[in-house]
Amino acid sequence: MQKHSHLLLDIEGTIVLDKRYTPVPGSVRWFNSLAKKGVKARLVTNNTTESPDHLYDILRKRGFKFARDDFFTCLTVALARMKRNPAKGGAKSCLVFGKQAVKKYLRQNGIKPMDSKNVDAVLIGHDPTVTYKKLNTAVGAIIENGAKLYTLHRNRRFVDENREIVMSSGPIAKALENACLVRASLCGKPDRRFYLSSIKGWDVERSEILMVSDDPFADLIGAKKIGMKTCWVLTGSQKDRNVVKKIAKKYHPDYILDSVTDIPG
Ligand SMILES: [Mg+2]
Repeated sequence: MQKHSHLLLDIEGTIVLDKRYTPVPGSVRWFNSLAKKGVKARLVTNNTTESPDHLYDILRKRGFKFARDDFFTCLTVALARMKRNPAKGGAKSCLVFGKQAVKKYLRQNGIKPMDSKNVDAVLIGHDPTVTYKKLNTAVGAIIENGAKLYTLHRNRRFVDENREIVMSSGPIAKALENACLVRASLCGKPDRRFYLSSIKGWDVERSEILMVSDDPFADLIGAKKIGMKTCWVLTGSQKDRNVVKKIAKKYHPDYILDSVTDIPG
């Protein structure tokens, strides 16, 4: 494959195998050798279960060496967008579908998480405790209180800490959009604005940037749409090469590799 000077790397399923953040074999050494070879790399994640700072610490502890500024998460974008919500003069409260770490991150940054329909915003992340009652509270917030709907991403499924393939946040966002006839604001990959902000400052043609992910659908189609080259790696929840047949030819990944470590540095 052609050598790329700039890499955008997904995290889960791409450089780590699962929610325990077990590195893909050889990925730490491969990743840390990129800088020495003059290859620029940034990490982009749709993680919705850890605070951005905590996730950064975990990856550093696993041995990946990178600067905080080279790490982009959907949660940082969600917070910024909620604070800018013009209709509400900036959201002050939010019904959160997500884990405690997400609620804590919002609280620390001035948005109060509340299990009530009297909120300014509804935020969808991975929430294994989701119930019909909570979904209905969200419907009430959107329809009766005019809360704006945000989703951290639209991923369909992922590999959890028990190595099981489980449903992700996308289908939950879709259910609420359908019930309320609204369109959720997408904060993470493959949102065009998310990708553009994560390549800011890279003074190269987009075709020189390679986006690498285990998700050939959302992540890579989105990257391709803005002109990046794409590489699908088979270390995540999608392992069947035949699924590319479900993708329009113009959005097929440029490369399909067994592991991120097969990318020349
Ligand atoms: Mg992934």
